[in-house]
Amino acid sequence: MTFERPRGTNDWGPEDMAKRRFVESAFVRTAEGFGFREIQTPIFEPLELFTAKSGPGVVDELYAFKDKGGRDLALRPEFTASILRFYVGELRSLPKPIKVYCYGPAFRYEEPQKGRYREFGQLDAEIIGGAALPSDAEALALAIGTMRAIGLKQIRARIGHLGMLRAFLPFGPADQARVLHALDKKNFEMLDDELQRLGKPELAEPLKRLVALHGDAGVLQEAKDLLGGKGAEAFAYLGQIGDELAHYGIPPAEYEFDMGVVRGLDYYTGLVFELDSPNLGAEKQVGGGGAYVLAEVFGGEPVAQTGFALGVDRLVLSAEAEGRFGPTPGVDAYIVPIGDAMRARAVEILTTLRAAGLRADIDLVGRGPSKNLDYANATRARYAVLVGERELKGEKVGLRDLKTGEQREVPLGLLAEEIRKA
Ligand code: AMP
Repeated sequence: MTFERPRGTNDWGPEDMAKRRFVESAFVRTAEGFGFREIQTPIFEPLELFTAKSGPGVVDELYAFKDKGGRDLALRPEFTASILRFYVGELRSLPKPIKVYCYGPAFRYEEPQKGRYREFGQLDAEIIGGAALPSDAEALALAIGTMRAIGLKQIRARIGHLGMLRAFLPFGPADQARVLHALDKKNFEMLDDELQRLGKPELAEPLKRLVALHGDAGVLQEAKDLLGGKGAEAFAYLGQIGDELAHYGIPPAEYEFDMGVVRGLDYYTGLVFELDSPNLGAEKQVGGGGAYVLAEVFGGEPVAQTGFALGVDRLVLSAEAEGRFGPTPGVDAYIVPIGDAMRARAVEILTTLRAAGLRADIDLVGRGPSKNLDYANATRARYAVLVGERELKGEKVGLRDLKTGEQREVPLGLLAEEIRKA
């Protein structure tokens, strides 16, 4: 009997994992450098945690199940809800602002395609309890800084603000949410229907023109004119964000203002942003985030937060598209005993190199020297260490540089140092 992996999941081999770890470690390094601290939450949570945040409709997008005790649970589709549950329950006693990050798998019941899976990796960072402008700028700078640390050249943040739309829409929160949802999906049929139902069909035209606006600071004026003075604070705020980003060394080439960034969920309050890797085509959005007030939903005091999530899978695809990855290197040293009698000493040399912090490996098959060298080359080992009887008598081994093919004798006492020199 053979088995296939579940739809929308992936097996990641050693080359894939090297890339995924590289992306994750670039995020961890950058976040730590920004003063964020790592936390971890469970991979499954009470189903209600997600329905409380996103409404009952979200169940269709979740891996939801009952456990043996009859509890309704779900695999996490993202991290924000878990972090806020953790915050309300325990973290809130920490000095504010609280800056935390985490990363790992998330699960959504989606139609799989390239860059869209049912199990995927996310990198998440949240700032809880800071003032809006500095926290929003800090979060954006971390998201962009992570993409830079991965080595991506094509970075595009699209920055918007929900304040102007909320000021422009003369509806209560539930109706606003439905209109915003239609705008987020760019589903203009749905938008027309909603506005018709709400008795304001004349708002459709300006809204459609508004969400199509994007570009440099100039579009802020255009958008302002379109809304006839409504949402003035939001436009001023976006201007200030641009100034803040300049101090962080983020040039206008790396972002634009985009009035079409809506982000469907009701809890976003102010700044919203999405991050693109333009080289990716259809699934070019590698991340998204914004400012929200969520703790209330989970029974806490209202507290301002800014957070974002980046997708590991799409960051890897993007770095691949930009030619960021070469083949991963093999071990520093592959030990080749010349004849069975040399094996015991070869293992001792192997152990010494490992203790010296080098990545070292040895034949586990019992192959002859030339087959062993083939293996060392095929696995991209940097050096082969040939352990032969004659050389060992003089406390030496043969050291073969597998890049150049050059071979020389090296005293055992200097072996680790010679290998490290490369
Ligand atoms: P979201 O919470 O939907 O804004 O997602 C944040 C980021 O997670 C996206 O920009 C993607 O990079 C990534 N992501 C979301 N859903 C998926 C998925 N189904 N497969 C792969 N990556 C995803």
